[in-house]
Amino acid sequence: MAMSDAAAPAYLATTDRELTDRAYDLLEAGQLTVSPHGSGDVYGFVVAGPCPRCAHHIVDRQVSVALTGTGGVGRSADADPVETVVLDVSCGCGSTHVDAPEGLTGCGASFRLELDIV
Ligand SMILES: [Zn+2]
Ligand SMILES: [Zn+2]
Repeated sequence: MAMSDAAAPAYLATTDRELTDRAYDLLEAGQLTVSPHGSGDVYGFVVAGPCPRCAHHIVDRQVSVALTGTGGVGRSADADPVETVVLDVSCGCGSTHVDAPEGLTGCGASFRLELDIV
């Protein structure tokens, strides 16, 4: 028997901390991946893998991200080379979940990944 959507959770707009924890677990397991894309001044990341809430596959393209590091413009040799990239990801699994607002796909989950980029 194929996997059924019957097991998928109903739509819920949530930023539950547990989702973030699960997202990091998925990252560590290599199931969720974050890949840089773009070049030059246009820089972003693609987050791909299972949604930590509904487990459907999501691909989230972030074209611009906030870099919170102390580096930035005119970085010096003394500066910490590590910058933190903050990615706010919303579930865009493409499935229509029960109780979802009209025409909206995804399970409503949002989570934040903060990654250190060396
Ligand atoms: Zn889903
Ligand atoms: Zn989802």
